[in-house]
Amino acid sequence: MTFPVQKSTLPFWRTELHPLDTHRSTEELPSEADVVIIGAGYSGASIAHHLLEKSKASNKPLSIAIVEAREACSGATGRNGGHLKPDPYMRAAGALQKYGKEAAEEVASFEARQVKEIKDLVEKESIDCDFVVTRASDVCLYEDAHQELKRGLQQLKKAGVSTADGVFYSDSRTAEGVSGVKGAKGCFSYPAGHVWPYKLVLHLLSKAVSAGVNLQTTTPVTSVTSADNGKWNVNTSRGSIRASKVIYASNAYTSSLLPEFKKSIVPVRGICSRIVAPKVDAPFLSNSYILRIAPGEYDYLIHRTDGSIVVGGARRDFFSQLDQWYNVTDDSKLIEPAKHYFDNYMQRHFKGWESSGAYTDKVWTGIMGYSSDGFPHIGEVPGKAGQLICAGFSGHGMPQIYLSAKAIADMVVNGQAVEEVDLPRVYRTLRERLEDEGNVTLESWAKVTKKAVPPKL
Ligand SMILES: Cc1cc2nc3c(=O)[nH]c(=O)nc-3n(C[C@H](O)[C@H](O)[C@H](O)COP(=O)(O)OP(=O)(O)OC[C@H]3O[C@@H](n4cnc5c(N)ncnc54)[C@H](O)[C@@H]3O)c2cc1C
Repeated sequence: MTFPVQKSTLPFWRTELHPLDTHRSTEELPSEADVVIIGAGYSGASIAHHLLEKSKASNKPLSIAIVEAREACSGATGRNGGHLKPDPYMRAAGALQKYGKEAAEEVASFEARQVKEIKDLVEKESIDCDFVVTRASDVCLYEDAHQELKRGLQQLKKAGVSTADGVFYSDSRTAEGVSGVKGAKGCFSYPAGHVWPYKLVLHLLSKAVSAGVNLQTTTPVTSVTSADNGKWNVNTSRGSIRASKVIYASNAYTSSLLPEFKKSIVPVRGICSRIVAPKVDAPFLSNSYILRIAPGEYDYLIHRTDGSIVVGGARRDFFSQLDQWYNVTDDSKLIEPAKHYFDNYMQRHFKGWESSGAYTDKVWTGIMGYSSDGFPHIGEVPGKAGQLICAGFSGHGMPQIYLSAKAIADMVVNGQAVEEVDLPRVYRTLRERLEDEGNVTLESWAKVTKKAVPPKL
């Protein structure tokens, strides 16, 4: 079973807690709700936000409860890299090859649009969440990655996929100067953002609670069983809620409640850190980053407005050891082989940082939900009318979740089918996807480590 463990490592983002962190709107669980959302991360909070907006617009009031196993935003969202980095080419190039041009365009532009959506939301609601619009520099430190990205970008340009136009490419002569990264062989930059994810999510939750949503933290859902009249019982140790619609926003942990997703959404442990530069004159970085260091090895990094750096990845030190990260749900422990990876990180990789005195202030872990084909599962759970899923973001939820949640809200409030909502077709959860035996994570692990693909879960 893959329920969230208690007493997780402390991420930087959870050092300033909101009054709703352990909130329970009522002492007892409500006995009924129109909609129960399981999970109070970015997905759960965004779904509640869009449900409220749409039910208000269509004058169809809804009673909504959110049930969260631990504290609010204590899952992957509260422990990620804060990087809202729409991928303009990697996923789209994969989709182009496998599903064709239209699917590639949908995947790429759906992600790209989310920076503007969040910018508009933050401005409209004056959300205090350190949101910054920037450009992401995707820096290749080895030639194969450089050539692969270049090839993918060319294919997308040729196919007319819109996001390819926003990418600025620097070749091996200029990549180091443009990026400031030592040994850069190529650099691709494109629009992105970064954010304090906990503050964004707690704003959405707080607004939802003020609008009457019943939030119940520290209440793990143990099962969902059928009730009469086509309704569902959402069961917890504190009692059950009878609901017409149940929405799984439980990401990595989904298969403990929906075993049919066991092969399709697998918990994967990641590690992240905050680096502090004590000297006021540490070089300023205007962009956010991905550093592709070696096959299977990459880091992601944002430069915060307080001068600190949040950087995650560290695969160099643990990727080959599958038991450290694959099918792991324990975020109460660090990934042991990688716990010192971030020491001297800035000095190692960035020009001008050698004598910055930058040091690792915090290291934490978090659990992501990796989907077996790399795309999230959004829509009605096959064979379970009234149950919907919004999960499986493969460590890349920040540019996918907000609009996926909006699609879910359209299905619930307006009764639209998954084919009718604004959602890339490859995100739709389908029985064929659940039955597919492929697994992109294990296949790429086997390719990099030259080991055999391990037996299926
Ligand atoms: C170390 C790390 C770094 C990352 N960096 C980035 C990044 O920089 N950019 C990016 O785009 N993505 C990043 N990600 C991925 C990103 O954080 C996720 O894709 C995203 O936060 C998923 O949001 P979510 O709401 O679906 O899941 P979560 O935030 O995990 O929320 C799911 C919630 O459901 C709750 N839950 C689960 N089971 C139950 C149950 N049975 N009963 C009740 N509640 C339950 C959990 O406790 C949890 O709070 C990173 C992830 C990690 C771990």
